[in-house]
Amino acid sequence: MHCDIYRARPELGAIVHAHPPAATALAITRRSIPPLHYMIVAAGGDDIPCADYATFGTAELSAAVVRALTGRQACLMANHGMLAAGPDLPRALWLAGEVEALADYYLRTLTVGGPVLLSAAELAAVRIRFQDYGLRTHASSAESR
Ligand SMILES: [Zn+2]
Repeated sequence: MHCDIYRARPELGAIVHAHPPAATALAITRRSIPPLHYMIVAAGGDDIPCADYATFGTAELSAAVVRALTGRQACLMANHGMLAAGPDLPRALWLAGEVEALADYYLRTLTVGGPVLLSAAELAAVRIRFQDYGLRTHASSAESR
């Protein structure tokens, strides 16, 4: 799976795959993470998709993950876990932590009626701010400013 992602996405230099509790619980429901918090933009799009289920270690799973990563740097993996990528390992590891946090927010909001989602215009404004803050190099430093 890792090799197939690197082949499909030469701009990626590191991949973190894990089974953290919130992202994995959400992946078991086969839901994508919707735009419930502005940090969703850090994964490359307006949501974090959930890749279709396939048996671990198979070419089928690898293809499903590559598909889910289209235009994204992170995805959930149905009934399995999550994956985050980036130009280098610190960035991929940072994004993996963000995905777990977003999944946890989503699970918590589902217990109280579900999240109020950000609009396309609100997400576009976040993208502009992130560019100003240099998110592409290291978003966590943007957050601390
Ligand atoms: Zn796994």
